[in-house]
Amino acid sequence: MALYTYPGNIHIHSTYSDGSGSVKQIAIAAARAGLSYVIITDHETLEGLAEEGLYSKVVTLVGIEVNRPHSHYLAFGLPKPPAPDPENPQTVIDFVRAGGGLGFIAHPFEKGSPYLEKGQAYPWINWPVFGFTGLEIWNYSSHWRGLHSSLLMAIYFFFFNRKAAMRGAPPELLALWDCYTRSGYRVVGIGGTDAHAFIYHLGFLTLQIFSYQFLFGTINTYLLLEEELAEDFQVAKTQILTAIKDGRCYISFDSLAKGSGFNFYAASAEKCYLMGSTLAYAPGLVLAAEIPVKRAFFRLIRDGEAVYSGSGSCLHFPVQMPGIYRLEVFLKPLIGQPRPWIYSNPIFINKAE
Ligand SMILES: [Zn+2]
Ligand SMILES: [Zn+2]
Repeated sequence: MALYTYPGNIHIHSTYSDGSGSVKQIAIAAARAGLSYVIITDHETLEGLAEEGLYSKVVTLVGIEVNRPHSHYLAFGLPKPPAPDPENPQTVIDFVRAGGGLGFIAHPFEKGSPYLEKGQAYPWINWPVFGFTGLEIWNYSSHWRGLHSSLLMAIYFFFFNRKAAMRGAPPELLALWDCYTRSGYRVVGIGGTDAHAFIYHLGFLTLQIFSYQFLFGTINTYLLLEEELAEDFQVAKTQILTAIKDGRCYISFDSLAKGSGFNFYAASAEKCYLMGSTLAYAPGLVLAAEIPVKRAFFRLIRDGEAVYSGSGSCLHFPVQMPGIYRLEVFLKPLIGQPRPWIYSNPIFINKAE
């Protein structure tokens, strides 16, 4: 089976809301970063939709981020914007679903930073909700803002150690993801950057904290396709949205190493099943992973519990029982603890018929 991997960046703001770049500038930054697609999600507007298209070979899609001040919801593939309803976000979820769109709960456990916007955070408030496509498991800007307990730490991590600052997807968010999937809901995990490329003016100094191009080299969502991404924009758009909807994707913190070439799959004697697949348990089934680096540390999760931890050049795990399996991959720096790198989407192994 041929398999093609496409890196892309999700959750980006343009000048249609509070970002500093136009749709075209964002696409050019994405091309420079080596991405195949981007999904721009401006606050409460789909105005950018008229500019959707292929720029510098980057499939540039326009979705929306709905709701303020809390319960932010990302929606893709919609022709018209949902009305915000932060006090009852289930109505927004239902609108997106009824319109055939994809919907993701954005930065659900955001903590905010005492140094920015007076500690303001934008978490998801109303639980439980149902019918959403997935969760934004790891959001770069949101994670960054919530990390630093002191200004000194923030300065140190910003100027001297940006990689170490990112400590992985929030554990409480991974637990929520596992809780939903274990309860029978298909929930897709994606990564996002919440890229704004804010420009700050300090007297005569102009500062840009995180440029689009910088962020497009951080947390990306890679798609797995069984055929090449089409040159026709509309066909490529459908391929991208279908792969995301089906959970045929994984999150990679590319600042550590590019995630291209990673794969996590289930294999029987006859067939391979990609991430997002549902299959019946059968003796002889194996879960396998390939990585584009020589060695990594694997943590295999079944129904929210780690069932294997260990390092190697690949993973080969004989499946003993049904369950919902997903994989976390870590890279060990020369000094220090392994750092979170890749989060797969789950493979759903049901009881034998
Ligand atoms: Zn948001
Ligand atoms: Zn946002």
